[in-house]
Amino acid sequence: MTRTDLDALVIGAGVSGLTTAICLAEAGLRVRIWAAEPPERTTSYAAGAMWGPYLVEPLDRVRVWSAQTLDVLQQLATDPATGVRLVSGIEASRKPVEPPKWGNQLDGFRMCEPSELPDGFATGWRYTAPLVDMPVYLGYLRGRLEAAGGEIAIRRIDSLDETVDVAPVVVNCTGMGAGDLVPDPDLIPIRGQLVVVENPGITEFFSEDTGLSPDLLHFYPQGETLVLGGTAQPGEWNPEPDPDVAAAIVARCAEIEPRLHAVRVIEHRVGLRPTRPYVRVEEHRIDGTKMIHSYGHGGAGVTLSWGCALEIASSLIRSSG
Ligand SMILES: Cc1cc2nc3c(=O)[nH]c(=O)nc-3n(C[C@H](O)[C@H](O)[C@H](O)COP(=O)(O)OP(=O)(O)OC[C@H]3O[C@@H](n4cnc5c(N)ncnc54)[C@H](O)[C@@H]3O)c2cc1C
Repeated sequence: MTRTDLDALVIGAGVSGLTTAICLAEAGLRVRIWAAEPPERTTSYAAGAMWGPYLVEPLDRVRVWSAQTLDVLQQLATDPATGVRLVSGIEASRKPVEPPKWGNQLDGFRMCEPSELPDGFATGWRYTAPLVDMPVYLGYLRGRLEAAGGEIAIRRIDSLDETVDVAPVVVNCTGMGAGDLVPDPDLIPIRGQLVVVENPGITEFFSEDTGLSPDLLHFYPQGETLVLGGTAQPGEWNPEPDPDVAAAIVARCAEIEPRLHAVRVIEHRVGLRPTRPYVRVEEHRIDGTKMIHSYGHGGAGVTLSWGCALEIASSLIRSSG
């Protein structure tokens, strides 16, 4: 396609780029994605991924984006082929803390009785939320984009200037890549490592509210597999799984759920959460091209994905109408 027959170019094929491209293509725009790496080699592939607007700002926009995404994910959960399922479970803390404000948006949200909590925990709350099996979900998003006429080309750019003659609108969904491309010195990686194991029959999730600790503790049932977490290491760039970190993750989870002491490991996953003081969804112009940034979603890119994408698509449609 040349500039004359392409309405929008999206850079990036993680959850942000794919979801944005779908919203644009389903609104009737001719869309192409350029991505250095395909969906299965992105940070998005590594995510857990539970709906939950953790530690992302600005709060007023995050509230809207996450609520819209919750609606969409709840609808997608009615079709198992999407990889989205509604899962019940407990989040708990060893210290007396308040439950998150977003809890009341979730089905069945209530405080736990002390007898429901593991030993050593002071408080906890139970709810049902969308849990996303990212390898399956990214495949679903790719198929949905292609069905709407969108396409993905594997192409790395060294500068956003390379995009200005390609389409009248460019959406920058490059995750950590935006650090060099924009450039944006506020963007830092928060490295996450997860261990995927054979599920010994666990049907409910468990998640510890670990505050700002780099050592997280959660297990998420994805049918035949269970995703164990995790870590949150600011400023760490290593994309390789660390075997000692993986062993510590399994040990932390097995302390809560003894069936995890001798589980078979299927996969190790590592991703760099693209983190900045606030999520950047805003537009500006480079020459005649409208450049829209959508990056810096930190540890909540899945949770915010549909809200951000719908905001971008509706602002483009409003401005062209
Ligand atoms: C371990 C872990 C657990 C997580 N758990 C959750 C969770 O439970 N819930 C939740 O909501 N979120 C979770 N997250 C956060 C979530 O994964 C991220 O916020 C989200 O994946 C960011 O998506 P993205 O599309 O912006 O970036 P990415 O997935 O990183 O995609 C970026 C895309 O841009 C492309 N790109 C980059 N630079 C260039 C370039 N120069 N030229 C061309 N293309 C380029 C890449 O190739 C890629 O295709 C988790 C993250 C991790 C690591």
